Amino acid sequence: MMAQQRVLPLLVASENGRAGMHAAMALLRNGGRALDAVELACRVTEADPADHSVGYGGLPNALGDVELDAGIMDGRTLRSGAVAALYGYAHPITLARQVMEESPHVLLVGRGAERFAAEMGHRPAEQRSPEALRLWRARFLEQGLTPGSSDQLRHIARRLTQPVTLTDRGAPPAASPSATREQTLGTVNFLALDQYGDLASAVSTSGIAWKYPSRVGDSPIIGAGQYCDNRYGAVACTGMGELALRVSTARSVILYLKTGMDLVEAGFEALRDLAYIAPLDAARMNFVVMTPDGRHAGFTTMPDRVYLAMRGDQDEAQALPRLRLPESPQTESH
Ligand code: ASP
Repeated sequence: MMAQQRVLPLLVASENGRAGMHAAMALLRNGGRALDAVELACRVTEADPADHSVGYGGLPNALGDVELDAGIMDGRTLRSGAVAALYGYAHPITLARQVMEESPHVLLVGRGAERFAAEMGHRPAEQRSPEALRLWRARFLEQGLTPGSSDQLRHIARRLTQPVTLTDRGAPPAASPSATREQTLGTVNFLALDQYGDLASAVSTSGIAWKYPSRVGDSPIIGAGQYCDNRYGAVACTGMGELALRVSTARSVILYLKTGMDLVEAGFEALRDLAYIAPLDAARMNFVVMTPDGRHAGFTTMPDRVYLAMRGDQDEAQALPRLRLPESPQTESH
């Protein structure tokens, strides 16, 4: 019998995924599975206190609580698992995988997800870092609000979640533009192709900073924030989850590929779906796509965005520009 030809492994990630890619690529090079690679890569980002958009150190909701969302999908079987609004436990991506493998369900949220975590042997773990709490307080003060005030929280959350760029010190974006860093949005995406030709996707996030409690975005919603199917490709999103939820961005890209569109066409069509519900200069959405034959691309509604890609024969992940619709406004403030 002829030995099956091995595929060159490939990883694609959002810009903040670099640290996780090394460990994940080592695993893939050693014959590891795509599903294990994306889970491992997410765990690295989830443990990084400097990443304020994922796991420990993620920015809190309007009440100062860090609620985590994550999802994972196996392109070979189309099985998937997710957790959302998880409070007080680390590594939501591992729990998401356990939902997929150890429960009859796809998505567990809030108290049920926490109960499941305990049943799976996880110990409660503080996810609010001192730095994240400091930024939460700073955001309230900047808005003239009292940190922790909860009257009419829906109004407070609306004010707090207006897109802003905080400086690294948590102050409004005044003094030094070079010190500014966008922190209120963010999620980590990983897509993997292993040497057996299997695809997997994983997404982990603390969601939009200062969100209303229990708000869930696109990340743990299979079809919105990610989708993965060995036959057509894998997709994962970052950005304003409400947009991807409304037009099922990840599954749409896969369906566009299924109809025979090429990679760029399929991505542009999904960007047009987003543009239909939000003007391109206001929408804040990004996604990465990988096909079973190892092609990949990143897409965005915003200028100057990159994504990461790393092949099994490369030592470092490459930062590559994300594509925008040709009809996007040429100058924008963001
Ligand atoms: N998509 C995530 C969410 O809406 C947040 C982000 O990627 O910035 O929860």
